[in-house]
Amino acid sequence: MSLPEDLCADLVFVNGNVITVDDENSLAEAVAIKSGRILRVGGNDQILATAGETTRVVDLKGKTLLPGLIDSHMHPGGSWGAYLIRGVSCGPDFNSVDEMLETIKKKVEQTPPGMWILGYRMDDVKMGRYPTLEELDNVAPMNPLYIQRRDGHNGVANSLALEKAGIDNKTQDPPHGKIERDEEGNPTGLLREAAKDLVYHKMPPYTEDEFYRGLQVVYQECIKLGLTSIHASMVSPPEFRAMQRIKREGKQMVRTAVHLSGRDNGMVEGAIATGIQTPFGDDWLKITEAEWVFDTSTSGRTAAYYEPYVGEPDNTGMLLYEQEDIERRIMETHKAGIRVGLDGVGDRGIDRSLDAIEKALQEKPWPDHRHRIEHCCYVTPSIQDRLLELKVIDASATGFLHDLGDAYKANRGEESMKYMWPHRTLIDRGIPAPGHSDASICTPNPWYGIYGMVTRKTSSGDTLYAPEAVKPVEAIRAYSIDGAYAAWEEDIKGSIEVGKLADLLVVNKDPLTIDPEELKSIETLMTIIDGEIVYER
Ligand SMILES: [Zn+2]
Repeated sequence: MSLPEDLCADLVFVNGNVITVDDENSLAEAVAIKSGRILRVGGNDQILATAGETTRVVDLKGKTLLPGLIDSHMHPGGSWGAYLIRGVSCGPDFNSVDEMLETIKKKVEQTPPGMWILGYRMDDVKMGRYPTLEELDNVAPMNPLYIQRRDGHNGVANSLALEKAGIDNKTQDPPHGKIERDEEGNPTGLLREAAKDLVYHKMPPYTEDEFYRGLQVVYQECIKLGLTSIHASMVSPPEFRAMQRIKREGKQMVRTAVHLSGRDNGMVEGAIATGIQTPFGDDWLKITEAEWVFDTSTSGRTAAYYEPYVGEPDNTGMLLYEQEDIERRIMETHKAGIRVGLDGVGDRGIDRSLDAIEKALQEKPWPDHRHRIEHCCYVTPSIQDRLLELKVIDASATGFLHDLGDAYKANRGEESMKYMWPHRTLIDRGIPAPGHSDASICTPNPWYGIYGMVTRKTSSGDTLYAPEAVKPVEAIRAYSIDGAYAAWEEDIKGSIEVGKLADLLVVNKDPLTIDPEELKSIETLMTIIDGEIVYER
């Protein structure tokens, strides 16, 4: 018996290894899709029964089918798309300062004198040091040059850029920032945290058009990596407008959850004044959070811990807002019904973030608030207790483990790796902890994050406290159903179950059975969004 054509599936996948990521982590053979949704999951016969004359049948030949992956915190515009359009990549693969300077030299040759040059993704740890002011002046004598460290928290500027920012030997350190100086008190060009903003904010701001062009490149990259949904951190007004334009024009995008930027004056206040509550939007583009960069960078030695950094007994890091100020912002946003996200990295930064959330919850209970600590790196037992108690999501910077793990260990010591992204414990204790790359801070490739969670290995091959390793399927959950939960979307995505959005991914290896060392080299064969095959190779 065959079904009438209008009831048949549009697309079916058969002979597959389907990792459903349902509650039981069950496996299946085949999946049927209709009108952008999953129609049926099961054995080949059950699925083929839904096929009609117009149904496209894809024989997976044993290949693995997964739910489309979700990156729960990245910067598709601000530190990725716009940089692609305007800047020059300064890492993270350069092994020496000379290599980086060579690349900048080429960019300088193509840039008219006087125009700003922005470098990004510089990795001083990999290169062994930061460039000197003299080196920067030699390579860019006629252009103001600012090169951002890969974490986006520190940077180096040449003399012209320092001059434009009005920084000289008499300039005081700004609150929450540090201008590094030589023995005579002259700036060395290295600017930490708020001090780098003195230069950064002198550059012409990115335009909607730059975001519009950059985001389209980024969306294509995401699709190739099997990311069908992303949570976009610290989205500014022109970036948000660009996203809406891409959607309005029907250009290909991945589903995007927007975190309104607490740094852009009036953006959160405007949302509150408008009466927007989270989540707000549709399945392609929705506002899910207001976010503040409160705590900072461990690899750049500025994140706030209780104990000092290795080799710097006076440095316990810094927070970017006064406690009273951040608590007022969180209170107002929470009371208005907008979910908050606070970047908390070190234990002190996470605790002060949780203090603000706790006060807001005491003032006005919100049972399904899903407030998040963004990055949430150093999760000590007492912080685990607080996350559970307050039902706060640990939006974990899982991508840091591989890409930045060596710097974390160098800066915080081996002992503290026990509580750095402790996913075995988080899962066992039932603390929701979706994974993310923070791209372009770390590679957007989700398999690097998954590899890090499963092996606890850094890019150098060092192992960071192996007992916190998780199973591959658990790491995949952090990049699927847990990410869906972190945006109130667990009913519509994050697993291959009937009725959910047909966002899927076919990969070349079975992540559950291969040698974990191979996880990093998994490649996308096909990406499906909304029931459409949007990438195939
Ligand atoms: Zn971020």
